[in-house]
Amino acid sequence: MYGLAVSQIVPPLCVWLKRDLRVVDHAALSAAIERAQGGDVFCVFVYEPEIFCQPEIHSRHLTFQRECLIDLEKSLQQLRIRLITRQGDAVTVLEQLRRETGFSKLFAHEETGTAISYARDQRVRHWAQTVGVQFEEFSQNGVVRRLNSRDGWNRYWESKMNQPQTVVHPLPRHCVNKTVVQLPSAGLLQPIDLGYEKKQMDCQPGGEHNAGMILQDFVDNRGQFYSGRISSPVTAPKSCSRLSAHLAFGAISIRRVWQATEQKRSEVRGLAMTETNQAARKQFQRWQKSIQSMQSRLHWHCHFMQKLEDEPEIEYRNMWSAADGLREKEFSNEYFQAWKNGRTGYPLVDACMRSLEVSGWLPFRMRALVVSFASYSLWLHWRPTGLHLATCFLDFEPGIHWSQMQMQSGTTGINTLRIYNPTKQAKEQDPQGHFIRKWLPELMSVPDVFIHTPWMMPAHIQQSSGCEIGSVYPKPIVDHALALRQAKSRFTVLRQDKKARDEASAVAVRHGSRRDRRGAMRQDPERKSLRKKASVDQQSETVCTEEQTVLPFIYE
Ligand SMILES: Cc1cc2nc3c(=O)[nH]c(=O)nc-3n(C[C@H](O)[C@H](O)[C@H](O)COP(=O)(O)OP(=O)(O)OC[C@H]3O[C@@H](n4cnc5c(N)ncnc54)[C@H](O)[C@@H]3O)c2cc1C
Repeated sequence: MYGLAVSQIVPPLCVWLKRDLRVVDHAALSAAIERAQGGDVFCVFVYEPEIFCQPEIHSRHLTFQRECLIDLEKSLQQLRIRLITRQGDAVTVLEQLRRETGFSKLFAHEETGTAISYARDQRVRHWAQTVGVQFEEFSQNGVVRRLNSRDGWNRYWESKMNQPQTVVHPLPRHCVNKTVVQLPSAGLLQPIDLGYEKKQMDCQPGGEHNAGMILQDFVDNRGQFYSGRISSPVTAPKSCSRLSAHLAFGAISIRRVWQATEQKRSEVRGLAMTETNQAARKQFQRWQKSIQSMQSRLHWHCHFMQKLEDEPEIEYRNMWSAADGLREKEFSNEYFQAWKNGRTGYPLVDACMRSLEVSGWLPFRMRALVVSFASYSLWLHWRPTGLHLATCFLDFEPGIHWSQMQMQSGTTGINTLRIYNPTKQAKEQDPQGHFIRKWLPELMSVPDVFIHTPWMMPAHIQQSSGCEIGSVYPKPIVDHALALRQAKSRFTVLRQDKKARDEASAVAVRHGSRRDRRGAMRQDPERKSLRKKASVDQQSETVCTEEQTVLPFIYE
């Protein structure tokens, strides 16, 4: 009776959910439950037109988000917490809810998002201050807000990943606050409700339970072959962790992933040291190498997001202004359309682009290949190509995406220019052409010997395989070798300029990873051989001296 009376007087606490659609290791939810001291808590998810109408958003994202929300609603019910959804501008919805429930404490996670979500968060903060709502924001990964310097960042990241996960306890009783119980909710909306067409796709399903199962399967089974099988589009779908979309929507915390892999790493390390059977020892060593490789990528996840957090303009603007004007005026819509639709005449590039449209995922190497092809061979600016890829990638994460788009296009000034040869990559990563044939059915009957270079087929073989080049399948739209020479010479001129080199050094100080002795940047064991070739590794740029900013080209 006493509890009832108190909860009717004490206003509920509100948790605003954004890209943190989980209950495990959810700092904002955990803090709200703790502060409520037995009182009521409710969660709100806002379908914000300014967010879901961004050009990066595709119905695949909204489907995945809905699957996460369905799962989350069930988990919240077990915690005796209601999930309310509303459609509208975030400030308007939060103000409505404040008036309806009288909440005066709001909890949320920090977000490193697009310019639109950044501005939205600022408006919410301003609103909270104006109406006297106490707004607490929590970090949910290794990204640091208002970071002064990258020095020491690696150590911070490691300590953050090793902190205990926040525990979420159920409320002691069901919500008795009538206003909260009766709050109108928009329900869990389908893409079609938000104005998106229903599309037939084959993307991985969302939800915290799925994320947990994928993680478990990775550390129990699939992770063993991570090292060595993550680049080929044939083996990567199974060998990679496939956690990226779950991390992007916050269906799992990066700390939970890190700690599960740490546990596995120490387990296999111990076994590798004590095992006497050589074959079994090798297996444990393979596991160890694989887990370390994957962990280095978890580090990169936050490393790249930190760049956008520190300089939100890189979503639109070259990180290295010396690259301004390099591609902007030469944009060819014809090339862009051919690239988007998988009709460039280079089979692996085309197969990647067509598969991406359906599955919403590509392994890192293939992402780098399609961007390298667009940026160097077709000389397309990274912003329109990046926007298209953002709609395709189910795991679109602005901080990683825009940093990677710039890195793979040579506009950071601090990374090795890695230009991929689409034919060589095709021969190495899909030697029998399984992936190519799956996504380019017009090449189904092309003999193996021509599957990577169909333009070289003699006329009679084109006829017998039903694949006339130039009509059924396009001729290469550019001469890759020639385009490569032109791209290299343009970058060489650019990098000879002293001002451009000075600016690159400044970019390195601001965004470059540090290889300090204690908290060294996690190195990927697989990339050691490449590092010998280049003074600055593609992934892990370090603070550069002036000489180091004159980066080598790597042609793969
Ligand atoms: C042009 C381009 C755009 C990209 N855009 C995105 C994006 O929007 N969202 C995204 O999550 N990843 C992006 N990546 C990085 C990478 O390709 C994906 O993270 C990875 O393919 C996802 O599959 P996975 O979860 O199985 O990765 P795994 O190989 O299993 O790696 C585990 C996790 O580490 C992180 N990670 C892996 N590789 C990288 C990397 N190179 N940089 C930063 N973090 C990494 C991801 O969170 C990933 O889930 C992009 C890469 C390129 C070249």
